[in-house]
Amino acid sequence: MIQISTAAPGVQRWRFWTRVSRSFGYDVSAYALDGGVLIDSGFRHGWKGERQHAVQWAGKLCTLTHHDEDHAGGAPLLASHGARILAPEGARPLLRVRRDLYPYQRLVWGTPRPVEAEPLPEMVPYDGRILRVVATPGHSHDHVVFFEPERRWLFSGDLFIGVRLRLARRHENLPQLINSLRSALALEPDIMFDAHAGVVSHAGSALGAKVQWLLDLQGEARRLRTSGHSVPDIRRRLLGREGPITWMTFGDFSKENVIRSLLGE
Ligand SMILES: [Zn+2]
Repeated sequence: MIQISTAAPGVQRWRFWTRVSRSFGYDVSAYALDGGVLIDSGFRHGWKGERQHAVQWAGKLCTLTHHDEDHAGGAPLLASHGARILAPEGARPLLRVRRDLYPYQRLVWGTPRPVEAEPLPEMVPYDGRILRVVATPGHSHDHVVFFEPERRWLFSGDLFIGVRLRLARRHENLPQLINSLRSALALEPDIMFDAHAGVVSHAGSALGAKVQWLLDLQGEARRLRTSGHSVPDIRRRLLGREGPITWMTFGDFSKENVIRSLLGE
Protein backbone atom coordinates (compact mmCIF):
# COMPACT_ATOMS: atom_id res chain seq x y z
CA MET A 1 0.00 0.00 0.00
CA ILE A 2 1.04 3.57 -0.57
CA GLN A 3 -0.78 6.17 1.48
CA ILE A 4 -0.25 9.65 0.01
CA SER A 5 -0.60 12.88 1.99
CA THR A 6 0.67 16.46 1.76
CA ALA A 7 3.74 16.92 3.96
CA ALA A 8 4.43 20.58 3.07
CA PRO A 9 3.68 22.87 0.11
CA GLY A 10 4.98 21.03 -2.96
CA VAL A 11 5.91 17.88 -1.00
CA GLN A 12 3.91 14.67 -0.86
CA ARG A 13 4.59 11.96 1.68
CA TRP A 14 4.32 8.47 0.20
CA ARG A 15 3.91 6.12 3.13
CA PHE A 16 4.57 2.46 2.31
CA TRP A 17 3.13 -0.37 4.37
CA THR A 18 1.62 -3.83 4.12
CA ARG A 19 -0.39 -5.86 6.61
CA VAL A 20 2.78 -7.77 7.49
CA SER A 21 4.88 -4.62 7.93
CA ARG A 22 2.13 -3.09 10.12
CA SER A 23 2.10 -6.22 12.29
CA PHE A 24 5.79 -5.50 12.93
CA GLY A 25 4.81 -1.87 13.66
CA TYR A 26 6.63 -0.80 10.56
CA ASP A 27 6.17 1.62 7.67
CA VAL A 28 8.56 3.78 5.67
CA SER A 29 8.09 7.05 3.81
CA ALA A 30 9.44 8.47 0.58
CA TYR A 31 8.91 12.14 -0.33
CA ALA A 32 7.77 13.30 -3.76
CA LEU A 33 8.72 16.87 -4.63
CA ASP A 34 6.97 19.03 -7.19
CA GLY A 35 9.42 19.33 -10.04
CA GLY A 36 9.86 15.58 -10.28
CA VAL A 37 12.18 14.29 -7.55
CA LEU A 38 11.18 11.31 -5.44
CA ILE A 39 13.45 10.89 -2.42
CA ASP A 40 13.70 7.14 -1.69
CA SER A 41 11.41 4.53 -3.17
CA GLY A 42 9.81 2.40 -0.44
CA PHE A 43 10.03 -1.39 -0.31
CA ARG A 44 9.11 -3.97 -2.93
CA HIS A 45 6.07 -5.51 -1.16
CA GLY A 46 4.66 -2.02 -0.49
CA TRP A 47 4.34 -1.45 -4.26
CA LYS A 48 1.92 -4.35 -4.83
CA GLY A 49 -1.15 -2.98 -6.61
CA GLU A 50 0.38 0.52 -6.79
CA ARG A 51 2.06 0.36 -10.19
CA GLN A 52 0.18 3.49 -11.39
CA HIS A 53 2.47 5.65 -9.23
CA ALA A 54 5.51 4.24 -11.01
CA VAL A 55 3.85 4.92 -14.38
CA GLN A 56 3.25 8.51 -13.27
CA TRP A 57 6.96 8.86 -12.40
CA ALA A 58 8.21 8.05 -15.94
CA GLY A 59 10.96 10.47 -17.02
CA LYS A 60 11.36 11.86 -13.49
CA LEU A 61 14.09 11.36 -10.86
CA CYS A 62 14.28 9.05 -7.89
CA THR A 63 17.19 9.84 -5.56
CA LEU A 64 18.09 7.30 -2.88
CA THR A 65 19.46 8.09 0.59
CA HIS A 66 21.04 4.60 0.94
CA HIS A 67 20.82 1.03 -0.29
CA ASP A 68 18.59 -0.50 2.43
CA GLU A 69 15.78 -2.58 0.91
CA ASP A 70 13.04 -0.49 2.55
CA HIS A 71 14.37 2.65 0.82
CA ALA A 72 15.68 1.27 -2.47
CA GLY A 73 13.30 -1.66 -3.05
CA GLY A 74 10.92 0.34 -5.28
CA ALA A 75 13.71 1.69 -7.51
CA PRO A 76 13.74 -1.25 -9.99
CA LEU A 77 10.00 -0.86 -10.66
CA LEU A 78 10.37 2.92 -11.07
CA ALA A 79 13.33 2.35 -13.43
CA SER A 80 11.34 -0.16 -15.49
CA HIS A 81 8.73 2.58 -16.03
CA GLY A 82 11.33 5.09 -17.20
CA ALA A 83 12.36 6.91 -14.02
CA ARG A 84 16.05 7.82 -13.58
CA ILE A 85 17.53 6.35 -10.40
CA LEU A 86 20.36 8.24 -8.67
CA ALA A 87 22.16 6.69 -5.72
CA PRO A 88 25.16 7.37 -3.46
CA GLU A 89 28.45 5.94 -4.74
CA GLY A 90 28.64 3.27 -2.01
CA ALA A 91 25.11 2.06 -2.80
CA ARG A 92 25.51 1.54 -6.55
CA PRO A 93 27.42 -1.78 -6.49
CA LEU A 94 24.97 -3.16 -3.91
CA LEU A 95 21.93 -2.16 -5.98
CA ARG A 96 23.38 -3.78 -9.09
CA VAL A 97 23.22 -7.33 -7.65
CA ARG A 98 20.61 -9.50 -5.98
CA ARG A 99 21.63 -9.51 -2.32
CA ASP A 100 21.11 -12.26 0.24
CA LEU A 101 18.71 -10.97 2.86
CA TYR A 102 17.63 -12.35 6.22
CA PRO A 103 14.25 -14.17 6.22
CA TYR A 104 12.66 -11.28 8.16
CA GLN A 105 13.77 -8.83 5.46
CA ARG A 106 12.36 -11.01 2.69
CA LEU A 107 9.09 -11.40 4.57
CA VAL A 108 8.54 -7.78 5.56
CA TRP A 109 10.10 -5.87 2.67
CA GLY A 110 10.83 -8.27 -0.18
CA THR A 111 14.13 -8.77 -1.99
CA PRO A 112 14.81 -5.87 -4.38
CA ARG A 113 15.49 -6.75 -7.99
CA PRO A 114 18.86 -5.46 -9.27
CA VAL A 115 18.89 -1.96 -10.71
CA GLU A 116 21.55 0.18 -12.36
CA ALA A 117 21.69 3.57 -10.64
CA GLU A 118 23.44 6.71 -11.87
CA PRO A 119 25.88 8.48 -9.52
CA LEU A 120 24.46 11.33 -7.44
CA PRO A 121 25.88 14.75 -8.28
CA GLU A 122 26.74 17.16 -5.40
CA MET A 123 23.61 19.16 -6.16
CA VAL A 124 20.31 17.96 -7.61
CA PRO A 125 18.44 20.77 -9.40
CA TYR A 126 14.63 20.69 -9.34
CA ASP A 127 11.84 23.19 -9.89
CA GLY A 128 14.22 26.22 -9.84
CA ARG A 129 15.78 25.08 -6.55
CA ILE A 130 18.58 22.73 -5.55
CA LEU A 131 19.01 19.81 -3.20
CA ARG A 132 22.47 19.59 -1.67
CA VAL A 133 23.71 16.04 -1.15
CA VAL A 134 25.41 15.67 2.25
CA ALA A 135 27.27 12.46 3.23
CA THR A 136 25.99 11.18 6.58
CA PRO A 137 27.44 7.69 7.17
CA GLY A 138 26.73 5.69 10.32
CA HIS A 139 23.30 4.11 9.88
CA SER A 140 24.97 2.63 6.78
CA HIS A 141 28.29 3.42 5.12
CA ASP A 142 26.65 4.92 2.02
CA HIS A 143 23.98 7.11 3.69
CA VAL A 144 23.36 10.66 2.44
CA VAL A 145 20.75 13.32 3.22
CA PHE A 146 19.29 15.97 0.91
CA PHE A 147 19.22 19.61 2.05
CA GLU A 148 17.18 22.35 0.39
CA PRO A 149 18.97 25.51 1.62
CA GLU A 150 16.37 28.11 0.68
CA ARG A 151 13.64 26.74 2.94
CA ARG A 152 16.10 24.85 5.20
CA TRP A 153 14.39 21.56 4.53
CA LEU A 154 16.25 18.37 5.38
CA PHE A 155 15.26 15.05 3.78
CA SER A 156 16.93 12.81 6.29
CA GLY A 157 16.33 9.17 5.21
CA ASP A 158 17.36 7.03 8.21
CA LEU A 159 19.64 9.61 9.85
CA PHE A 160 17.20 10.48 12.64
CA ILE A 161 14.34 7.90 13.02
CA GLY A 162 13.85 8.94 16.69
CA VAL A 163 15.77 10.36 19.64
CA ARG A 164 16.13 7.30 21.88
CA LEU A 165 18.00 4.80 19.79
CA ARG A 166 17.89 1.43 21.61
CA LEU A 167 18.32 -1.02 18.74
CA ALA A 168 20.93 -1.12 16.02
CA ARG A 169 21.72 -3.42 13.15
CA ARG A 170 25.08 -5.23 13.09
CA HIS A 171 26.62 -3.01 10.47
CA GLU A 172 25.71 0.34 12.07
CA ASN A 173 28.54 2.60 13.18
CA LEU A 174 27.20 4.83 15.96
CA PRO A 175 30.29 7.02 16.57
CA GLN A 176 30.11 7.83 12.84
CA LEU A 177 26.37 8.47 13.20
CA ILE A 178 27.06 11.01 15.98
CA ASN A 179 29.40 12.92 13.63
CA SER A 180 26.81 12.78 10.85
CA LEU A 181 24.06 14.09 13.14
CA ARG A 182 26.41 16.98 13.96
CA SER A 183 27.01 17.67 10.25
CA ALA A 184 23.24 17.78 9.75
CA LEU A 185 22.84 20.10 12.76
CA ALA A 186 25.46 22.44 11.28
CA LEU A 187 23.16 22.95 8.28
CA GLU A 188 20.65 24.56 10.70
CA PRO A 189 17.65 22.76 9.23
CA ASP A 190 14.19 24.01 10.01
CA ILE A 191 11.93 21.13 8.96
CA MET A 192 13.08 17.53 8.68
CA PHE A 193 11.32 14.99 6.45
CA ASP A 194 12.19 11.65 7.99
CA ALA A 195 11.59 8.17 6.55
CA HIS A 196 10.13 6.90 9.81
CA ALA A 197 9.37 9.86 12.10
CA GLY A 198 7.56 11.76 9.31
CA VAL A 199 7.61 15.57 9.33
CA VAL A 200 9.63 16.92 12.29
CA SER A 201 9.08 20.66 12.69
CA HIS A 202 11.92 21.55 15.10
CA ALA A 203 14.63 19.69 13.24
CA GLY A 204 17.58 21.25 15.11
CA SER A 205 16.34 20.40 18.59
CA ALA A 206 15.37 16.86 17.53
CA LEU A 207 18.82 16.19 16.04
CA GLY A 208 20.52 17.80 19.06
CA ALA A 209 18.49 15.62 21.45
CA LYS A 210 19.57 12.50 19.58
CA VAL A 211 23.25 13.51 19.73
CA GLN A 212 22.88 14.06 23.48
CA TRP A 213 21.12 10.71 24.00
CA LEU A 214 23.92 8.87 22.17
CA LEU A 215 26.71 10.77 23.98
CA ASP A 216 25.13 10.10 27.39
CA LEU A 217 24.74 6.42 26.57
CA GLN A 218 28.31 6.23 25.28
CA GLY A 219 29.65 7.98 28.40
CA GLU A 220 27.82 5.54 30.71
CA ALA A 221 28.87 2.53 28.64
CA ARG A 222 32.53 3.60 28.71
CA ARG A 223 32.43 4.19 32.47
CA LEU A 224 31.01 0.70 33.08
CA ARG A 225 33.45 -0.90 30.65
CA THR A 226 36.41 0.74 32.41
CA SER A 227 35.21 -0.65 35.71
CA GLY A 228 35.25 -4.15 34.25
CA HIS A 229 31.66 -4.86 33.17
CA SER A 230 31.00 -7.09 30.16
CA VAL A 231 29.11 -5.82 27.10
CA PRO A 232 25.96 -7.94 27.85
CA ASP A 233 26.01 -6.66 31.42
CA ILE A 234 26.27 -3.03 30.25
CA ARG A 235 23.45 -3.64 27.78
CA ARG A 236 21.26 -5.05 30.60
CA ARG A 237 22.02 -2.15 32.95
CA LEU A 238 21.55 0.66 30.41
CA LEU A 239 18.98 -0.68 27.93
CA GLY A 240 17.40 -3.72 29.60
CA ARG A 241 16.72 -7.13 28.10
CA GLU A 242 16.67 -7.85 24.39
CA GLY A 243 13.13 -7.99 22.95
CA PRO A 244 11.50 -10.39 20.43
CA ILE A 245 12.80 -8.33 17.50
CA THR A 246 16.32 -9.57 18.29
CA TRP A 247 15.51 -13.27 17.90
CA MET A 248 13.16 -12.62 14.96
CA THR A 249 16.04 -10.93 13.13
CA PHE A 250 18.66 -13.51 14.20
CA GLY A 251 20.43 -10.82 16.20
CA ASP A 252 20.65 -8.37 13.28
CA PHE A 253 18.71 -5.83 15.39
CA SER A 254 19.83 -5.75 19.02
CA LYS A 255 20.51 -3.55 22.01
CA GLU A 256 23.88 -5.20 22.35
CA ASN A 257 24.81 -3.87 18.89
CA VAL A 258 24.16 -0.36 20.24
CA ILE A 259 26.54 -0.81 23.18
CA ARG A 260 29.20 -2.59 21.13
CA SER A 261 29.18 0.08 18.45
CA LEU A 262 29.28 2.99 20.93
CA LEU A 263 32.28 1.34 22.63
CA GLY A 264 33.96 0.75 19.27
CA GLU A 265 34.17 -3.01 19.92
ZN1 LIG B 1 18.11 2.12 6.54
